[in-house]
Amino acid sequence: MLRHLLAMFLALQCGLAAALTQAEVMAGAERLYRERMQELAAQHQLDADPAFHERVLRIAKPLLAQAMHDYPESAAWAWEIHTAPGGDENAYAMAGGKMLISRAYVHKLSLSDAELAMLLAHEICHSVLRHNLVEYQEAMRVAPEWRERPFAELEEAVDNDSALMRKLAPLGIRQEQEADREGLKLAWRAGWQGPALARYFHKLMRSSHAPNFEQFAHPAPSQRWKAAQELAAALEAAGH
Ligand SMILES: [Zn+2]
Repeated sequence: MLRHLLAMFLALQCGLAAALTQAEVMAGAERLYRERMQELAAQHQLDADPAFHERVLRIAKPLLAQAMHDYPESAAWAWEIHTAPGGDENAYAMAGGKMLISRAYVHKLSLSDAELAMLLAHEICHSVLRHNLVEYQEAMRVAPEWRERPFAELEEAVDNDSALMRKLAPLGIRQEQEADREGLKLAWRAGWQGPALARYFHKLMRSSHAPNFEQFAHPAPSQRWKAAQELAAALEAAGH
Protein backbone atom coordinates (compact mmCIF):
# COMPACT_ATOMS: atom_id res chain seq x y z
CA MET A 1 0.00 0.00 0.00
CA LEU A 2 2.71 2.43 1.06
CA ARG A 3 4.77 1.51 -1.97
CA HIS A 4 1.77 2.09 -4.19
CA LEU A 5 1.12 5.51 -2.62
CA LEU A 6 4.76 6.46 -2.98
CA ALA A 7 4.73 5.45 -6.66
CA MET A 8 1.56 7.49 -7.19
CA PHE A 9 3.15 10.47 -5.43
CA LEU A 10 6.27 10.26 -7.59
CA ALA A 11 4.21 9.88 -10.74
CA LEU A 12 2.15 12.96 -9.87
CA GLN A 13 5.29 14.96 -9.12
CA CYS A 14 6.83 14.14 -12.48
CA GLY A 15 3.68 14.34 -14.62
CA LEU A 16 4.09 10.67 -15.55
CA ALA A 17 1.49 9.11 -17.79
CA ALA A 18 0.79 6.37 -15.19
CA ALA A 19 -0.97 8.86 -12.88
CA LEU A 20 -3.04 10.51 -15.59
CA THR A 21 -6.34 12.18 -14.61
CA GLN A 22 -9.19 13.68 -16.65
CA ALA A 23 -8.18 17.11 -15.28
CA GLU A 24 -4.66 16.70 -16.70
CA VAL A 25 -5.99 15.48 -20.04
CA MET A 26 -8.28 18.53 -20.18
CA ALA A 27 -5.39 20.88 -19.33
CA GLY A 28 -3.30 19.31 -22.11
CA ALA A 29 -6.17 19.59 -24.60
CA GLU A 30 -6.71 23.22 -23.62
CA ARG A 31 -3.04 23.99 -24.30
CA LEU A 32 -2.98 22.24 -27.72
CA TYR A 33 -6.32 23.78 -28.72
CA ARG A 34 -5.19 27.29 -27.74
CA GLU A 35 -2.02 26.94 -29.83
CA ARG A 36 -4.02 25.83 -32.86
CA MET A 37 -6.60 28.64 -32.45
CA GLN A 38 -3.79 31.21 -32.19
CA GLU A 39 -2.27 29.87 -35.42
CA LEU A 40 -5.63 30.12 -37.19
CA ALA A 41 -6.16 33.65 -35.83
CA ALA A 42 -2.69 34.72 -37.05
CA GLN A 43 -3.66 33.47 -40.54
CA HIS A 44 -7.02 35.33 -40.32
CA GLN A 45 -8.79 31.98 -40.58
CA LEU A 46 -10.40 31.73 -37.15
CA ASP A 47 -14.22 31.95 -37.44
CA ALA A 48 -13.49 33.84 -40.67
CA ASP A 49 -16.88 33.15 -42.28
CA PRO A 50 -19.46 34.72 -39.92
CA ALA A 51 -22.47 33.09 -41.64
CA PHE A 52 -20.98 29.60 -41.41
CA HIS A 53 -19.79 30.19 -37.85
CA GLU A 54 -23.24 31.35 -36.72
CA ARG A 55 -24.90 28.39 -38.42
CA VAL A 56 -22.63 25.97 -36.54
CA LEU A 57 -23.24 27.72 -33.20
CA ARG A 58 -27.02 27.85 -33.76
CA ILE A 59 -27.20 24.10 -34.41
CA ALA A 60 -24.71 23.26 -31.65
CA LYS A 61 -26.45 25.22 -28.89
CA PRO A 62 -29.37 22.84 -28.16
CA LEU A 63 -27.05 19.84 -28.61
CA LEU A 64 -24.67 21.23 -25.98
CA ALA A 65 -27.59 21.90 -23.62
CA GLN A 66 -28.65 18.26 -24.09
CA ALA A 67 -25.08 17.02 -23.51
CA MET A 68 -24.68 19.09 -20.33
CA HIS A 69 -27.97 17.65 -19.08
CA ASP A 70 -27.17 14.04 -19.96
CA TYR A 71 -23.48 14.15 -18.97
CA PRO A 72 -23.51 16.46 -15.89
CA GLU A 73 -19.70 16.51 -15.61
CA SER A 74 -19.62 18.43 -18.89
CA ALA A 75 -21.86 21.25 -17.57
CA ALA A 76 -18.80 22.65 -15.75
CA TRP A 77 -16.61 22.65 -18.86
CA ALA A 78 -15.67 25.75 -20.84
CA TRP A 79 -17.10 24.38 -24.12
CA GLU A 80 -15.69 26.10 -27.19
CA ILE A 81 -16.59 25.78 -30.85
CA HIS A 82 -14.52 27.48 -33.49
CA THR A 83 -14.67 27.20 -37.27
CA ALA A 84 -11.97 27.26 -39.94
CA PRO A 85 -12.19 27.49 -43.72
CA GLY A 86 -9.74 24.66 -44.53
CA GLY A 87 -10.28 20.95 -44.97
CA ASP A 88 -7.21 19.49 -43.25
CA GLU A 89 -9.05 19.13 -39.97
CA ASN A 90 -12.58 18.02 -40.93
CA ALA A 91 -13.96 18.27 -37.44
CA TYR A 92 -12.69 17.33 -34.01
CA ALA A 93 -13.50 17.59 -30.33
CA MET A 94 -10.87 17.35 -27.64
CA ALA A 95 -11.19 16.67 -23.92
CA GLY A 96 -13.22 19.30 -22.10
CA GLY A 97 -15.33 20.23 -25.14
CA LYS A 98 -12.79 22.01 -27.36
CA MET A 99 -14.09 21.71 -30.92
CA LEU A 100 -13.08 22.80 -34.41
CA ILE A 101 -15.31 22.44 -37.49
CA SER A 102 -14.12 22.92 -41.08
CA ARG A 103 -16.30 24.82 -43.52
CA ALA A 104 -14.67 23.03 -46.50
CA TYR A 105 -15.73 19.67 -45.08
CA VAL A 106 -19.34 20.72 -44.34
CA HIS A 107 -19.66 22.31 -47.79
CA LYS A 108 -18.01 19.40 -49.62
CA LEU A 109 -20.68 17.08 -48.20
CA SER A 110 -23.45 19.74 -48.63
CA LEU A 111 -24.70 18.95 -45.13
CA SER A 112 -28.28 19.85 -44.26
CA ASP A 113 -28.93 21.24 -40.76
CA ALA A 114 -29.86 17.75 -39.49
CA GLU A 115 -26.69 16.24 -41.00
CA LEU A 116 -24.58 19.00 -39.48
CA ALA A 117 -26.31 18.29 -36.15
CA MET A 118 -25.22 14.64 -36.51
CA LEU A 119 -21.61 15.68 -37.16
CA LEU A 120 -21.63 18.05 -34.17
CA ALA A 121 -23.31 15.50 -31.88
CA HIS A 122 -20.69 12.90 -32.89
CA GLU A 123 -17.92 15.33 -31.95
CA ILE A 124 -19.63 16.36 -28.69
CA CYS A 125 -19.78 12.68 -27.75
CA HIS A 126 -16.02 12.22 -28.22
CA SER A 127 -15.65 14.83 -25.44
CA VAL A 128 -18.37 13.69 -23.04
CA LEU A 129 -17.32 10.03 -23.38
CA ARG A 130 -13.78 11.05 -22.35
CA HIS A 131 -12.30 9.47 -25.46
CA ASN A 132 -8.92 11.22 -25.06
CA LEU A 133 -8.42 9.84 -21.54
CA VAL A 134 -9.54 6.35 -22.62
CA GLU A 135 -7.09 6.48 -25.53
CA TYR A 136 -4.14 7.37 -23.27
CA GLN A 137 -5.11 4.60 -20.85
CA GLU A 138 -5.30 2.12 -23.73
CA ALA A 139 -1.89 3.30 -24.96
CA MET A 140 -0.40 2.43 -21.55
CA ARG A 141 -2.12 -0.96 -21.60
CA VAL A 142 -0.93 -1.99 -25.08
CA ALA A 143 2.50 -0.34 -24.65
CA PRO A 144 3.26 -0.37 -20.88
CA GLU A 145 6.61 1.40 -21.33
CA TRP A 146 4.57 4.60 -21.71
CA ARG A 147 3.53 4.44 -18.04
CA GLU A 148 6.98 5.59 -16.98
CA ARG A 149 7.24 8.40 -19.51
CA PRO A 150 5.94 11.97 -19.21
CA PHE A 151 2.32 12.49 -20.21
CA ALA A 152 3.35 15.37 -22.51
CA GLU A 153 5.29 12.84 -24.63
CA LEU A 154 2.39 10.40 -24.76
CA GLU A 155 0.08 13.23 -25.80
CA GLU A 156 2.37 13.85 -28.78
CA ALA A 157 2.87 10.15 -29.56
CA VAL A 158 -0.81 9.17 -29.99
CA ASP A 159 -0.93 11.44 -33.05
CA ASN A 160 2.61 10.97 -34.38
CA ASP A 161 4.16 7.63 -33.33
CA SER A 162 3.05 5.27 -36.09
CA ALA A 163 3.82 2.08 -34.13
CA LEU A 164 1.69 3.25 -31.22
CA MET A 165 -1.03 4.53 -33.57
CA ARG A 166 -1.28 1.11 -35.19
CA LYS A 167 -1.78 -0.48 -31.77
CA LEU A 168 -4.49 2.06 -30.97
CA ALA A 169 -6.39 1.69 -34.26
CA PRO A 170 -8.87 -0.97 -32.97
CA LEU A 171 -9.81 1.36 -30.08
CA GLY A 172 -10.10 4.23 -32.57
CA ILE A 173 -12.67 2.25 -34.54
CA ARG A 174 -14.65 1.42 -31.41
CA GLN A 175 -14.59 5.08 -30.34
CA GLU A 176 -15.88 6.19 -33.75
CA GLN A 177 -18.72 3.66 -33.54
CA GLU A 178 -19.54 4.81 -30.02
CA ALA A 179 -19.53 8.51 -31.03
CA ASP A 180 -21.77 7.66 -34.02
CA ARG A 181 -24.25 5.77 -31.85
CA GLU A 182 -24.31 8.03 -28.79
CA GLY A 183 -24.20 11.13 -31.01
CA LEU A 184 -27.24 10.04 -32.97
CA LYS A 185 -29.10 9.31 -29.72
CA LEU A 186 -28.05 12.68 -28.24
CA ALA A 187 -29.27 14.65 -31.29
CA TRP A 188 -32.49 12.61 -31.34
CA ARG A 189 -33.12 13.43 -27.67
CA ALA A 190 -32.52 17.10 -28.57
CA GLY A 191 -35.44 16.86 -31.01
CA TRP A 192 -34.00 15.87 -34.40
CA GLN A 193 -35.58 13.08 -36.47
CA GLY A 194 -33.51 9.86 -36.54
CA PRO A 195 -33.59 9.23 -40.32
CA ALA A 196 -32.61 12.85 -41.11
CA LEU A 197 -29.60 12.51 -38.78
CA ALA A 198 -28.64 9.15 -40.28
CA ARG A 199 -28.45 10.71 -43.78
CA TYR A 200 -25.12 12.24 -42.70
CA PHE A 201 -23.59 8.77 -42.96
CA HIS A 202 -25.08 8.27 -46.43
CA LYS A 203 -23.30 11.43 -47.61
CA LEU A 204 -20.11 10.27 -45.92
CA MET A 205 -20.32 6.92 -47.71
CA ARG A 206 -21.06 8.52 -51.09
CA SER A 207 -18.06 10.85 -50.78
CA SER A 208 -15.71 8.00 -49.83
CA HIS A 209 -13.35 6.43 -52.37
CA ALA A 210 -13.60 3.05 -50.64
CA PRO A 211 -16.97 2.90 -48.87
CA ASN A 212 -16.62 -0.75 -47.85
CA PHE A 213 -13.15 -0.59 -46.34
CA GLU A 214 -11.96 0.48 -42.95
CA GLN A 215 -9.73 3.51 -43.13
CA PHE A 216 -7.10 3.98 -40.46
CA ALA A 217 -8.88 3.91 -37.07
CA HIS A 218 -12.27 4.46 -38.74
CA PRO A 219 -15.01 1.93 -39.46
CA ALA A 220 -16.04 1.40 -43.10
CA PRO A 221 -18.42 4.19 -44.23
CA SER A 222 -20.97 1.64 -45.46
CA GLN A 223 -20.98 0.03 -42.00
CA ARG A 224 -21.52 3.40 -40.33
CA TRP A 225 -24.45 4.15 -42.68
CA LYS A 226 -26.02 0.72 -42.02
CA ALA A 227 -25.63 1.05 -38.23
CA ALA A 228 -27.08 4.60 -38.26
CA GLN A 229 -30.13 3.54 -40.29
CA GLU A 230 -30.83 0.66 -37.90
CA LEU A 231 -30.49 2.86 -34.83
CA ALA A 232 -32.60 5.66 -36.38
CA ALA A 233 -35.37 3.17 -37.19
CA ALA A 234 -35.29 1.78 -33.64
CA LEU A 235 -35.48 5.31 -32.14
CA GLU A 236 -38.36 6.32 -34.40
CA ALA A 237 -40.22 3.11 -33.47
CA ALA A 238 -39.71 3.94 -29.77
CA GLY A 239 -41.00 7.52 -30.31
CA HIS A 240 -39.86 10.71 -28.61
ZN1 LIG B 1 -15.01 10.85 -34.63
